[in-house]
Amino acid sequence: MNNTICKNGYFGEFGGRFIDEKLAQEFEKIEKAYEEFKNNIEIQKEYEEILKHYVGRPSPMYFAKNLSKKYGAQIYLKREDLNHTGAHKINHALGQALFAKKMGKTKLIAETGAGQHGVATATAATLMGLKCDIYMGEIDIIKEKPNVDRMRILGANIIPVSEGTKTLKEAVDKALEAYTKEYETALYAIGSVVGPHPFPTMIEDFQSIIGKEAKEQILEMTGKLPNHIVACVGGGSNSIGLFSAFLNDENVKIHGAEPLGKGHKLGENAASLTYGKKGIIHGFKSLILQDEEGNIAPAYSIASGLDYPSVGPKHCYLKEIKRATYELINDIEAVDAFYELSKEEGIIPALESSHAVALGIKIAKEAKSNEIIVINISGRGDKDIEFIMKNYPKN
Ligand SMILES: *Cc1c(COP(=O)(O)O)cnc(C)c1O
Repeated sequence: MNNTICKNGYFGEFGGRFIDEKLAQEFEKIEKAYEEFKNNIEIQKEYEEILKHYVGRPSPMYFAKNLSKKYGAQIYLKREDLNHTGAHKINHALGQALFAKKMGKTKLIAETGAGQHGVATATAATLMGLKCDIYMGEIDIIKEKPNVDRMRILGANIIPVSEGTKTLKEAVDKALEAYTKEYETALYAIGSVVGPHPFPTMIEDFQSIIGKEAKEQILEMTGKLPNHIVACVGGGSNSIGLFSAFLNDENVKIHGAEPLGKGHKLGENAASLTYGKKGIIHGFKSLILQDEEGNIAPAYSIASGLDYPSVGPKHCYLKEIKRATYELINDIEAVDAFYELSKEEGIIPALESSHAVALGIKIAKEAKSNEIIVINISGRGDKDIEFIMKNYPKN
């Protein structure tokens, strides 16, 4: 990418738009179309109706009384795991599908690693009557068979990628290559608050419903704002969705749980806010896990939805201005929290969300008994059950 073009859409020095000259005009168009989409009351109503009747929003806020009693704080769970398809990703998948349709596009293009983003995108494409091409590494296709089957049932076209390591990185390359040829009729559906402007803002807008609901619900249930809000951070969409409503409430402490994986060394974790260095990845400026020479390092987490080597630009900014703190949770702590929430409350969380649960419990142990903690349960754990039983069985 020699010709880099950068416009507005910065969070401090992070974000922007670093793309091929060929796509620059298309992104101008996307930016303008999104402004119209966002300000069109009819369209926004249409999106809200879909969230209500198809996704099942508002998702509940649940007072976790067993956990609260055990750890000595008032712990509340925002239940994104109860959404249709079982996670928060459907919020932005449907938003982007509706946007693509309003732009007159006929297809969504996406890549997927573990398949969660692929399933959400395939679902949204089906609902909106769009074609859907999902690029996926050949190894991931074998590993993630249930999600591949789901996408096929939903009518998506799975395009196997056989280059390189045959996993997510090559799938991204191939999907971008296809998009560069097909952008006139297709929209690239992004999986988190990442990518070139305006995608980080657009995805945040679609996920901000989490925070809006959470704020209303907690005020109604307790008459107070929470002392702490907690979410896991992969690319950063479910967390930004929760955080966005509370940014101006100075007394609400904002915590992101970053995946420490197996340890602190490069390649052992996916904690880009903690260990990342500034650089440009996938069309935006951010903190990136990289080696001394600036090569992007492989990211690892037990939760495949968290193993991205970078993070949304707004998180970098929130960290810099100290509005949010990002704390490390390793694989074992996440697995313990997975069991803890299952056994105490009868809720099996996704391994991604288990990172937030683990951090929420740590905060609760330090908190006074009347302090309110809201933890975002970004998704349900059904997809992780086979893996857990095989690798971390417990009786
Ligand atoms: C994909 C995923 C995540 C991580 O993505 P963010 O953009 O950081 O929210 C977290 N939880 C679940 C359940 C996921 O599927």
